[in-house]
Amino acid sequence: AKAAGRNAVRFFEPEMQARAEMRFTLETELRQAIDQNELRLYVQPQFDAERRMRGAEVLLRWHHPRRGLIPPASFIPIAEETGLIVELGDWVLHQACRLLTSPQMAGLPLRLSVNVSPRQFHRTGFVGRVRDILADTGADPERLTFEVTENLVIDKVHQTVATMSELNALGIRFSIDDFGTGYSSLSYLKRLPIDELKIDRSFVRDAPSDPNDAALVDAILSIAALLHIDVVAEGVETEEQAAFLAARAPMLYQGYLYARPEPVEAFLARLGGIPAA
Ligand code: C2E
Ligand code: CA
Ligand code: CA
Ligand code: CA
Repeated sequence: AKAAGRNAVRFFEPEMQARAEMRFTLETELRQAIDQNELRLYVQPQFDAERRMRGAEVLLRWHHPRRGLIPPASFIPIAEETGLIVELGDWVLHQACRLLTSPQMAGLPLRLSVNVSPRQFHRTGFVGRVRDILADTGADPERLTFEVTENLVIDKVHQTVATMSELNALGIRFSIDDFGTGYSSLSYLKRLPIDELKIDRSFVRDAPSDPNDAALVDAILSIAALLHIDVVAEGVETEEQAAFLAARAPMLYQGYLYARPEPVEAFLARLGGIPAA
């Protein structure tokens, strides 16, 4: 096994180097991507049980001139490590606020959810920058939800509570993304101003067939009910999954069954038939 291990190291070396170089290249190119207008917002609608649209999640895409469409999973971690996420996150929030105040969306009772990464959230001045963007765009903070993961809280409970409370006082709602997959403890949940939990796609997927996942979904729904917070199910792909969830509790649904993430123009084109608030 040792010899094989040594061979394996030699075998993987060029691959690791290639990966490191790719990373560096992406980092360099990512720095220019905002200026060169290569980043785009995609939007994935969220629906209630009657299939009325209630809001949407904003998802970042990188239209690379040579590499094509790069999914966020390939560049958000790099942006997070290098600190570029701060600039990137501000840009996304600014675009989302502009979308909220667009003529097509302004009068409608729809919310937008924006993903906020830990480094962006904990960076000094975050609340101030959010205020600036709100003032700049005139967006209504009550129509904004920030999606954060449980890992935000690790080692930073006081800071998290303080920042969330300030933003919450402005009217911004908080949602725990991928709920159940992270490391937070339930006692944190009680201390944070949380308005929503998102059931992770991994639980939704097998819940109708796997009793363990079904039990996890039920546990998440109990916690949400106990804390009086809303629930969004993510990654709903089949009628079976939707029916399983609908039989349990009121919630919003997001997933390919209803709509895929789509460019802003396609999203705006849906809005014609929705009655004003
Ligand atoms: P997420 O926040 O959990 O976003 C949901 C992901 O699930 C999206 O992937 C979405 O396209 C995908 N999805 C939605 N419905 C379905 C479905 O029915 N089936 C399947 N298989 N997938 C579905 P996406 O857009 O590739 O984003 C991946 C992750 O990248 C996001 O996960 C989020 O963590 C991160 N991300 C995306 N945009 C941003 C951003 O603007 N800022 C930050 N910080 N992170 C972002
Ligand atoms: Ca999310
Ligand atoms: Ca999620
Ligand atoms: Ca997820």
